[in-house]
Amino acid sequence: MIDPGLADRLARVRERIHSAAARCGRDPGGILLLAVTKVFPAQAILDGYELGLRDFGENYVQEFAEKASSVADLAGTRYHLIGHLQSNKCARAVELFQVIQTVDSAKLAARLDAFGKPVEVMLEVKLAPEGSKTGADPADLPALADAVRACSHLRLTGLMTVPPWSEDAEHSRPYFARLRELAEKTGLSELSMGMSNDLEVAIEEGATCVRVGTALFGKRKKP
Ligand SMILES: *Cc1c(COP(=O)(O)O)cnc(C)c1O
Repeated sequence: MIDPGLADRLARVRERIHSAAARCGRDPGGILLLAVTKVFPAQAILDGYELGLRDFGENYVQEFAEKASSVADLAGTRYHLIGHLQSNKCARAVELFQVIQTVDSAKLAARLDAFGKPVEVMLEVKLAPEGSKTGADPADLPALADAVRACSHLRLTGLMTVPPWSEDAEHSRPYFARLRELAEKTGLSELSMGMSNDLEVAIEEGATCVRVGTALFGKRKKP
């Protein structure tokens, strides 16, 4: 049975996306809602699918590998890796994910490319020392983007970032604005930014993908 609260929470998240888009004159159709199911069982993906979600985000290759057989029958899904990818997990990652949002080095890109499987990738950018531990230095982006574009099986679409955590969504704004600037400079159109607490600010700053976990599935237990 579908988690009875999920439909309501999904409606509320969609409403938040629509009103934020409306406030800044954007088409909500240009904003992907990526449902982040990390730590939750495969049932969360099945339930989300039933309610029309097709894009799911997972942080850990191993965790998703364990859920993958339960969701193998769902047609038209796209799974996005949004957590740091260790080089020894690349083979598994290209099998399991259609999008890898966390490429942060040319070496990692070359390793992914070597499997010969088409994968969409984004570059994860580290914009603050106190933010996520991984991600490319903004200064390295032009060279990194060139290196990824030279990989024949990888399709580079955009940038992704995780700003330092804050209760106040406004604290995320300068990071989101900076990511947009960097994407423009790098010739990239997709911006994966904004989570449960700051998706409105991210949309105002140009997000094309918001990654939402807690607001859809509730609080996570520690992994
Ligand atoms: C967990 C996670 C999310 C979702 O965060 P919520 O605050 O639960 O919406 C989004 N992006 C990344 C990279 C995450 O690790």
